[in-house]
Amino acid sequence: MKNFFVILFIKGVSFFLKIFGKNGGNLPGKLAFKLNPNILKCFKIDCPVIAVTGTNGKTMTNNCIVRILEDDNKRVISNLEGNNMETGIVSTLIKKCSLTGKIKADYLVLETDESYVPIVYKDLKLDCLVVLNFFRDQLDRSGEVESLILKINEFLKTYDKNLILNSDDPNVSRLAMANPENKNIYYYSVDRYKFATDELREAGEGKFCPFCNTRLKYKYYQYAHVGKFICDKCNYGGNEIYNLLENVDLENRSFEIDGTTYTTKFNSIYSTYNFAAATTVCKLYNTDLISMKNTLENFVLNNGRLEKMVINNNDTIINIAKNPTGANVSLRLVNEDNEHKEILFVLNDNIADGKDVSWIWDINFDVLNNVDRIITSGTRAFDLAIRIKTSNYPVEKIEAYTDIYEAIEHLYEKNTKKYVITNYTATQDTRHKLMRFKEKCGDK
Ligand SMILES: [Zn+2]
Repeated sequence: MKNFFVILFIKGVSFFLKIFGKNGGNLPGKLAFKLNPNILKCFKIDCPVIAVTGTNGKTMTNNCIVRILEDDNKRVISNLEGNNMETGIVSTLIKKCSLTGKIKADYLVLETDESYVPIVYKDLKLDCLVVLNFFRDQLDRSGEVESLILKINEFLKTYDKNLILNSDDPNVSRLAMANPENKNIYYYSVDRYKFATDELREAGEGKFCPFCNTRLKYKYYQYAHVGKFICDKCNYGGNEIYNLLENVDLENRSFEIDGTTYTTKFNSIYSTYNFAAATTVCKLYNTDLISMKNTLENFVLNNGRLEKMVINNNDTIINIAKNPTGANVSLRLVNEDNEHKEILFVLNDNIADGKDVSWIWDINFDVLNNVDRIITSGTRAFDLAIRIKTSNYPVEKIEAYTDIYEAIEHLYEKNTKKYVITNYTATQDTRHKLMRFKEKCGDK
């Protein structure tokens, strides 16, 4: 009976937050845990629970899976706003459950922060875990990548349900060995694409075999340490692929799966990997293929992740980058585009970003294709400007303004294409100020 009152009370709190125009985020979940630390055990769920985790691309992959399932006429409950820690997940569940804690849906799809996977899913029965990649991220909060992988590995030792793994990330595919009894392992992979390299160009982890410590041999690198690798000694990396994306064509934004061509609105290798993960889930749960094709064609994100705007007649592409890999992927997009352009890079060091911004030294600024100017901004504008200067980019083409609006005014002095790269807390702020500037210019 007690849970009934907890759920009723929290639903009431969420309702009032909504009246006052607040989303609430993690707050209802935080309160629920205070009232009942075992709240996660109280939900009655009889649909498959699918969790998406990894360092980069969680929100995009999660939301893409949800869209495909919904377009296939399934009822889906998900934390689409990205509240992906324990309290955010509980907030979502309480908002959507009945007063008895029952979840009425065909699927529950939950973006889950890497460090919360073992905590949340010891109490919520998981049917499918999707692991995207592991990169260095927000050092201050999560600690080392290796300890994170080991925590998830420990959790997986007793897990025997579906496990979807990125075969091309050695940090991820090693998780298949956590429980040798688990026969429900599904690998996805992306075939070599046009801009793959023979040598490692960017910062990456996982260059040694996790089982025998031999240096891994790469046939090619797609980005960072993601690519086709093999351990000569123990054959680690020689996986049988369940879902392979072939003929990746970034110019035409298309790829093939099992002979069918899919087009999307995205043109980065990084989003291609997210689509590889999402389509693996849909393949596994037998989603209608034509519906999936239509969804992928129309799928967009409106939260600063590869968002496009026209401001003062200039094409502007906004992308979030909260770690070196994210930043390198953004710069890859810049370099694969032959047009002349200018970059605005906004770097904050608020608590949610991690106070340590030393990761900017792992960003590869060495090769920049037709970049006429780089403006830096945010609380660490000058650190970033110095970092870029040391990469031999012409110093007269670098400008730093701590004030974001001032930086934007300078960015649009000249008419060229713009790329805006922002880290975590800088994203909404920059986006907001871009909109304000756009309004001032009289754009619609
Ligand atoms: Zn090995």
